[in-house]
Parts: sequence; structure tokens; C-alpha cells
Amino acid sequence: MEARSRYGEVTDNLVALLTEIVGAKNVLTGDERENYARDETPKSKPFLPDVVVKPEDTNSVAKILKLASERNIPVTPRGGGTGVSGGAVPIYGGIVLSLERMNRILEIDEDNFVATVEPGNEQI
Ligand SMILES: Cc1cc2nc3c(=O)[nH]c(=O)nc-3n(C[C@H](O)[C@H](O)[C@H](O)COP(=O)(O)OP(=O)(O)OC[C@H]3O[C@@H](n4cnc5c(N)ncnc54)[C@H](O)[C@@H]3O)c2cc1C
Repeated sequence: MEARSRYGEVTDNLVALLTEIVGAKNVLTGDERENYARDETPKSKPFLPDVVVKPEDTNSVAKILKLASERNIPVTPRGGGTGVSGGAVPIYGGIVLSLERMNRILEIDEDNFVATVEPGNEQI
């Protein structure tokens, strides 16, 4: 059995629900997905996600993961895609959860030299 067939399909209905959560410009289903098919692993083979979703906050992340869980859709989180071990590559297709819009500094604790930041950055 091919690994992808173990999972649910990304349907038009699912894409519509994802669009309700993050807005149309933050759901990619076209050629732009190729930018999310690999990371910086040398000589790696690309794997195209079915859809890329770019939430702006944790509430949206929770809604996306709930939908994916209900439909058994694989989710690959992605920060900047600069990893060199293939972790951000969506080998089973499904959803790439790109955190590139979650790039804010939340707090700088000068007394303890601790910066709390969101997980994304914009490498691509
Ligand atoms: C030129 C170059 C130099 C580098 N130098 C260093 C170095 O000096 N030190 C070093 O440690 N690394 C280095 N790296 C590796 C890489 O930059 C780091 O591993 C970096 O931390 C990856 O961050 P990212 O946001 O790009 O992660 P990604 O590549 O997007 O993701 C890495 C893994 O984390 C998962 N992930 C991402 N975000 C989340 C999230 N919010 N929640 C759960 N899982 C998540 C992904 O699914 C994936 O498995 C280098 C890479 C390059 C290309």
C-alpha cells in the first residue's frame, strides 16, 4: 500500500474550510506550492504538498489541526524551511502548515536575557 493512501484526501471542501480560517491569500493550491516541497537538505527529492496554509495566530493553528485530525490529513509544520534533515518536507502530501506569518517578538525579558518569539520566519 502506498504511504499516501493511508491518509484522507485534501478535497475542495477542506480547502474552502481552510480558506474560512486564514483567508484566500493564505491558502496555496497552485504552482507556489513548489516553494514548500523541499527544505535545505542537499540533493533532496521534492514532495509537493496538496495545500499550503499560512495562519497568523495560535487560534487558527488549532482550528487547522482540528480539521486535519478529523479528516486524517497529514500536516507538516514549517518555519523557514532551512532545516537540513528533511523535517519540513511533506513526504505524505497533505497540508504544509507554514508559520512564516507568525514572526512577532512577544516579549523581551531583559533581566533574564530571554526573548519569547513566534516560531516562523521568512526564508523563502
Ligand atoms: C546555510 C545554513 C546554515 C545553518 N546553520 C545552522 C547552525 O549554525 N546551527 C543550527 O542549529 N542549524 C543550522 N542550520 C539548520 C537550520 O537553519 C536550523 O535547523 C533552523 O533552526 C531550522 O529552522 P526553520 O524554521 O527553517 O525550520 P524548518 O526547516 O522549517 O523545520 C525544521 C523542523 O521543525 C519542524 N517545525 C518547524 N516549525 C515548527 C513548529 N512551530 N512546531 C513544530 N514543529 C515545527 C518542521 O516540521 C521540521 O521537522 C543551517 C541551515 C543552513 C541552510
